[in-house]
Amino acid sequence: MQEGKKPVFWFVTGSQHLYGEESLEIVENNSIELVSQLNSEEKFPFPIEFKSVLTNSGDIEDLMRQANVDKSCNGIITWMHTFSPGKMWISGLHALEKPLLHLHTQYYREVPWETIDMDYMNLHQSAHGDREYGFVGTRLGMSRKVVAGYWGNEDVQEKIKDWMIVAAGYNESKNIRVARFGDNMRNVAVTDGDKIEAQIKFGWTVDYYGIGDLVAEMDEVAPEKIENLMDEYNSLYHLPASPEELDAVREQARIEIGLKSFLDKGGYQAFTTNFEDLHGMHQLPGLAVQRLMAQGYGFAGEGDWRTAALVRLMKVMAGNQVTSFMEDYTYHLEQGNEMVLGSHMLEICPTITATTPEVKVSPLSMGGKSAPARMVFDSQAGEAINVSIVELGGRFRMVINKVDAVQPGISTPELPVAKVLWKPQPSLSEAAEAWIYAGGAHHTSLSYALTAEQMEDFAELMNIECAVIDNETTLREFKKELKWNALLWK
Ligand code: MN
Repeated sequence: MQEGKKPVFWFVTGSQHLYGEESLEIVENNSIELVSQLNSEEKFPFPIEFKSVLTNSGDIEDLMRQANVDKSCNGIITWMHTFSPGKMWISGLHALEKPLLHLHTQYYREVPWETIDMDYMNLHQSAHGDREYGFVGTRLGMSRKVVAGYWGNEDVQEKIKDWMIVAAGYNESKNIRVARFGDNMRNVAVTDGDKIEAQIKFGWTVDYYGIGDLVAEMDEVAPEKIENLMDEYNSLYHLPASPEELDAVREQARIEIGLKSFLDKGGYQAFTTNFEDLHGMHQLPGLAVQRLMAQGYGFAGEGDWRTAALVRLMKVMAGNQVTSFMEDYTYHLEQGNEMVLGSHMLEICPTITATTPEVKVSPLSMGGKSAPARMVFDSQAGEAINVSIVELGGRFRMVINKVDAVQPGISTPELPVAKVLWKPQPSLSEAAEAWIYAGGAHHTSLSYALTAEQMEDFAELMNIECAVIDNETTLREFKKELKWNALLWK
């Protein structure tokens, strides 16, 4: 999924010369040991590279500027082993353009009560060294992640790991290119927006193509390639039996090959389609879109390029695990058992399935084309997040709802689409009220792999508003939060 250089995170330790060269040697050895232990845990998706112990502003600024231009450096982790006077960090932190994690930890877990002396105290004083350094970050108004606790603890390592994923997503966001076949669905408000602002804020490039450009690519697809892909489908899914239906599946194989070729030639990792714009197509892309999402491409329907880019971003962050384009479709309002049935007219990603997908060919009331083939399945149970990014006149708001997906176990034999059932936190009615006050869209990106905190951290790095709806949410506070945010984000 990652293109270009493999991400690496730099580790930098702060100190000063006050305690003598011997102390600096210990500081360096402790840092090397800490980093090597962290790497050996193998829970991090990317390696951490120890750079050096920094003791003056010139070296700090040089290192931060190197980090800015080094494409493999996805972020910096800093730790003040001893006291490191904050003024020496001002110019360097001011120059830094990469994500920053401030690890507030200490080399030893416990105080050696019997032997502790002033030498020990001077060496192991991150308790106040990191506060001095932290002040500068706050004084500069820096967006950064602060993680406190013993570095060997699982919860601390988990936080570092989660942040690395966010930082890598932040860097990858700038490479996201969306191809949109056709425009937004006519008259729809929430999917429209400012593509230039999205490029400035998130780095997303959004290019328009006529559907005829895709049809031309599909016309070039060799029949044997289609048959090979049909064999692959047969090994992965339950295919229909009748020759007519298999021909309909073949058409989706042709779309998949043509679409992938088109996207790869143009360097696109996300795309949109629009059922109102299908000239020259025999079917609306269904199975083809699901297959490409499963391969990591971002997608959203009806020309919704912003959600398509968000799905791609979240797929990169999630390592393409259990993340899909989603839509709040229909409610089950049985008292005490309220649920949302999430789905789309065709395009749900099979990375979230709990079952072997069944390929069905079924007519679609929209688009006026032949019955499209699509995968039908029930998705997994578990905690997940639904994420939407909307535009509020020159600015973006990310809205996140924590949801508990339930294993349906409910058969829907007449429903020819993939489905997810979830219970929104804190309850369906409160979540829906909060979501609507926040202006959240009906299209979302659903992920079981990412946490709300990770997406909040991403929003902070991108300097956009983020509103979270979860079990802690009360409507009264949430409405106030939106009002205060409106002042802050003007
Ligand atoms: Mn839709």
